[in-house]
Parts: sequence; structure tokens; C-alpha cells
Amino acid sequence: MKASRELESIHDSFLSSLTLLEGMISSLREGVIVIAKDWQIFASNPAARSLFGWSKIDSRYLQDVVENEEIRQAFRLALETGGRTETKIEILVNFDNRVYDLRVAPLSFAGSLEDRHAIGIFYDITRLERLEKVRQEFLSNVSHELRTPLTSILAFVETLENGALEDPDNSHRFLDVIRRNAERMHHLIDDILELSAIEAGKITVNPQPVDLSRLVEEVWSTLAEKAAKRGVTFLNQIQLETSVFADTRRLEQILINLLGNAVKFNREGGSVTVSYQKLNGLNQICVADTGEGIAPEHLPRIFERFYRTDTARSRELGGTGLGLAIVKHLARLHRGEVRVESTLGKGSIFTVELADV
Ligand code: ADP
Repeated sequence: MKASRELESIHDSFLSSLTLLEGMISSLREGVIVIAKDWQIFASNPAARSLFGWSKIDSRYLQDVVENEEIRQAFRLALETGGRTETKIEILVNFDNRVYDLRVAPLSFAGSLEDRHAIGIFYDITRLERLEKVRQEFLSNVSHELRTPLTSILAFVETLENGALEDPDNSHRFLDVIRRNAERMHHLIDDILELSAIEAGKITVNPQPVDLSRLVEEVWSTLAEKAAKRGVTFLNQIQLETSVFADTRRLEQILINLLGNAVKFNREGGSVTVSYQKLNGLNQICVADTGEGIAPEHLPRIFERFYRTDTARSRELGGTGLGLAIVKHLARLHRGEVRVESTLGKGSIFTVELADV
């Protein structure tokens, strides 16, 4: 009687361990597949089933439901030689090309080689792979952007060393080019550091009431000289004492970038108009220019880092190609957005929407 009660309790605890194990494997985000020696699928979890789009897999054979040769090969190795593999594989899941780190290992029950199974675990590394690609592209862009002014600086220094120093007119001109290129590198490094800090989540906004009209005037005063040289006029349509709740320094950065571009990409004798309205609880600031405009094919990518419609021209104007990416991030830090409408040859309107954070 006592023995049978003990057996019952061992049986119960075995069952509850099994249920626990099953529950754990079912809730894993990684796909798990176990196959038997004859390739019949012995067990799989929901993640694996949704990965391959299987609704029901009982008693099916792996080779009938998985076409990918790399996956089959990894299982074959585990079953036939007891080998372990780690492979990067690509699978099309719901029309999306996803990347997995697949690890397959042999699984023997009670140490019996005769009854060897194989277990495969699919780790989704798509996001990591994409991030790595973005990081590599960013590094290569940064190197390229830094190399251009540096090459120019070195070339002009060499020219000066080779005799141009004796020619006062030219030497001043060359020194000016060197200084402008060094400033560009400085500007670029500032923008890169700023963008990295924002993307790393190191920048927080410290919102307070900001007198918008005054801030816009202050920003314009830093651009007025450049604008006057090109005959670009300014129209501030924001009512006096309009107050928005935002981080003053960050909002100033947004305005410097947008107003700076509106001057840079304007035509001779053009104008820049800044206006404000409150819409559905959002502060909407519009910066409109009468410049060259942006062709429709560029519009979807204009806020990407280093994206420019004309790289040579942007560089010539002292641009880094990072201004709009910074604006986008700063707007998002205010739980807002930035968007653009543009007509080629007529001008562009950049609209920043900021929530009262
Ligand atoms: P940049 O340093 O080149 O100004 P931005 O990120 O600020 O970099 O802008 C990216 C690109 O978007 C610019 O090189 C330019 O091609 C385009 N652009 C930005 N603002 C305007 C504008 N107001 N009018 C026309 N093109 C613009």
C-alpha cells in the first residue's frame, strides 16, 4: 500500500516536471525541433511551427517539410555522425527574409547511439544582423566624409610647402581653404557625436515654457548675415508671446538646422517664412522656403543620415548630411515628428510637430 502510494507520487511529480518542461519549451521564442533517427519529427514547439508555416506536423518527416538544404545537412550530420553544427541560415517568413543562427546537436536517450535523435534550435538574429549592417554603413560613411576634407587639407599643405608659401596672394587663399575644410571636419564630428548620443538614448529633454517667436528671431539673427548676402528675406509669422512647452536647447537645434537649410537651399532674393499653429494638442511649427525644392524620389529618404540630393553641393555649402537626421530624432524625443512637402523649383515646407512633453 505504502509502496504504491510512493509510486503514485513519483508518477505525479514526473508528470508535473514533464508539463513544466513542455510549457517552457512551448513558450520559448526560439524555434525547437527534435527529429528521430528515421527523420520523423518527434517534437517541435509553436515558434518552430510558425517559422515553417506548419499547422500540424505529427508524424511528418523533416525532409518533407523543410526544403532548405543547409538545415537538412545540419540534422544529417547530427544523426549520422553525432556532430554538432552552428550555421547562419536565411528563411523567408511571411515574405520577410529573416536570418537565424541554427544550432543542431545529437540527442541520445539513455546513452543509446542506436536511438540517436537530433535537436535543432533556431535563434532569430535578423535584428542583430540589420543593426550590424547599419553600423558598418555608418562607419564607412563617416570615414568617407572625413577623408574628403582631410585629403584637401593635405593637398593644400603640400602645395604651400612646395613653394606657394612665397606667393602671398595664393598662400592666403590656400590657408582659407584649409581652414574651411578643418571647420567642416569639426562640424562633422560635432554632428556625429550629437547623433550618436541621441541614438544611444543619452540625451533627455528638459521641457519648459519657451517663447517661440523670440527663439525663432534669435536663431534667425545667427543666419541673417548669410541670408543678406544672398538677398534672402525672413518672415516671422508667429504671434508674439506664443509659448510652447519644449526643451529650449533642443528646439533651438531643430530651428538652426531647418532655418539654415531654408537659407542654404534658397534662391537669390528668395524668402523664408516661419509659422506656428496648435493642432489637436500638438505644436506645429512650419518652416517654408522659396528655394529649389526637392524631387519626389528623394523625399522618403531625406531624413536618413548622410542622405543628400546633391552631395558635392551640400559639402560646398558646408553641410554634413546629418542635420535632418538630428532634427528627426529631436522631434521624436519630444514625442513628435517632422515631415516635408516640396515642389521642385518652387520650394519646401518642413513641418515639425511637438507634443507638449
Ligand atoms: P546638409 O548638411 O546637406 O544640409 P541635411 O541633413 O540638413 O544635410 O539635409 C539633407 C539634404 O536634404 C540636403 O543635402 C539637401 O539635399 C536636402 N534639403 C534639406 N533641406 C532642404 C531645403 N530646405 N530645400 C531643398 N533641399 C533641402
